[in-house]
Amino acid sequence: MKRISPVVKIGNVKIGGNFPPVLQSMTATDTRDVEKTSAEVLALHAAGAEIVRIAVPDFESARAVPKIFEKISQKNAVVPLVGDFHFNGAEILKKVPECARALSKFRINPGNTADAGFLEMLEIARKFEKPVRIGANAGSVAPEILKKSKNLVDAVIRTLEISVAAAESINFPADKIVLSAKLSNVLDTIAAHKILSEKFPHALHVGLTESGSGLGGEISSAVALGILLHEKIGDTVRVSITPRPGEARTREVEIGKQILQSLGIRNFFPKIVSCPGCGRTAGDFYQKMTAEISDRVAKNFPIWREKFSGSENLKISILGCVVNGPGEARDADFGICLPGRAENFALVFARGEKICDLRGENVIDEFWHLLERFVAENFKK
Ligand code: SF4
Repeated sequence: MKRISPVVKIGNVKIGGNFPPVLQSMTATDTRDVEKTSAEVLALHAAGAEIVRIAVPDFESARAVPKIFEKISQKNAVVPLVGDFHFNGAEILKKVPECARALSKFRINPGNTADAGFLEMLEIARKFEKPVRIGANAGSVAPEILKKSKNLVDAVIRTLEISVAAAESINFPADKIVLSAKLSNVLDTIAAHKILSEKFPHALHVGLTESGSGLGGEISSAVALGILLHEKIGDTVRVSITPRPGEARTREVEIGKQILQSLGIRNFFPKIVSCPGCGRTAGDFYQKMTAEISDRVAKNFPIWREKFSGSENLKISILGCVVNGPGEARDADFGICLPGRAENFALVFARGEKICDLRGENVIDEFWHLLERFVAENFKK
């Protein structure tokens, strides 16, 4: 059963309650560079980030925040910006109130924000009617708490207990608080979030922090988030991977979408079911066919999404032979399967019923035309 936390409004986005988890990301540009940071916010938002965090380490960055807000508004993008504060957040927000105004949420790290600064940030948030994320991170737990703790999980939970008690002592409302406990180990992350979800009613931001780069980081993030989200833990989600040099920062958003979609929590694009192929497939035609159809779906989906309502829920099956082809097609909207050990011949299914055979050199093109027609006829606006 889903744990029901208070609904928190972050700009135009609502989280908690019965709302499904939303995707968050963070820029890596120098916030003082308004052009580059606005461009990265827009790119992350276009990729699917529904909330974008930006680092605000100094006064100059804080003064850039309203300009970044203005730039993205000019592009008609409505994406809440979260300010990421460490050490000196209260000082920055007091001296640059226009930054506080432009942000939709403040992230406070209780591990490196002095007690007085922490309460001051909450008072500033109250004044500007903004929510906060109290985000403990294993890498920056206060040394005195670390000394008293059994392990890192215990340390981040203790940190949040103290922070929540401090917020309650000034009657800071629960529906303006999001909590997070970030650790870089999968099992610790799962353990910490389970404790958090039992101890606190607040909305939770979940993710595996500093998960690494490449396949290892991606799989670790998917495992940690998959287990938590399956247990209905998590109101905002971030995948924190180190991009490979030259890799788009939007990749973390794409992975986040894949995680939510694979759990059936939200659909972002059509689902393609395909088998690995085996000794029953001949040559590499099956692989080429799967790749070609998948690429065409990915390329055309942005157009389908605009024209055909619900096309993100489309399910396509592409199977290498009749062992599982007709069966998978029954569970798909549209499907194709090879007979096995024969090329240039395929069976096509719509809503589980075989509708035709395709033969010859142009199997893929002909299937594609049938699929496009199916989408146009079945997902009308
Ligand atoms: S569906 Fe057919 S080709 Fe694909 S893996 Fe199964 S047996 Fe092999």
